[in-house]
Amino acid sequence: MKQDGKFILMNREELREYINRLSDNKKFTTIHQHHTVSPSYKDVNNNHFALMRGMENYHVKALNMSEIAQHFSTFPDGSICVGRPLTKDGGGFYGNQNKNSITIENVGDFDINVMTEEQNQSIILLNALLCKKFDIVPSTETLIYHCWVKNKSCPGKTFFGGNTKQAAEQNFIPLIKAAIKDPMTFEQALEIVVKKIDSSYSYWLKRKDIDLAFQALIIKIAKTYMGGK
Ligand SMILES: [Zn+2]
Repeated sequence: MKQDGKFILMNREELREYINRLSDNKKFTTIHQHHTVSPSYKDVNNNHFALMRGMENYHVKALNMSEIAQHFSTFPDGSICVGRPLTKDGGGFYGNQNKNSITIENVGDFDINVMTEEQNQSIILLNALLCKKFDIVPSTETLIYHCWVKNKSCPGKTFFGGNTKQAAEQNFIPLIKAAIKDPMTFEQALEIVVKKIDSSYSYWLKRKDIDLAFQALIIKIAKTYMGGK
């Protein structure tokens, strides 16, 4: 976890812990999905905080907002950065449409950029953890793409196989539902466990099929480390 002012940059493992510990005093009923367009993939070069400050500058100076619009930004390397505090509504839609919303900006231009697997996984996990935390049932009524309320392509024509409601129902919502049910895969759990005991990820990944119980055990141990259920 790295911090620069209010911006907190984390990996998926740290995100679980962060959202687990969040207060759920404020009510949220929808999660809004965007892509940034600018910055796009060509602008990303291990410069997360500079990009965050750049986006905030634009939102404050050009759009007259009080601070950065989004609560969370996801990056091509899979990292996630906290921006706007969750004591406030999001700022990515227009006026009253932001009421009780969480705003996610996915860094990239998904009209043209091919989303990395890392970012894909982080978007799924982030939405799933937020749905779980704030009792949001994933549907096209609650996980809302920007283009459904405004005439633009955001979050991108290739975002999880398309930016239409039908594409979301087929390709996006089911992934979030599955991640809520079992928010940790064996691979994610193994990442957590090997880091803790300073062991080799690839060594144990090759042995994932030695026994069916082995995978269940690793997931169980990882969840214990995370303080989850
Ligand atoms: Zn948007």
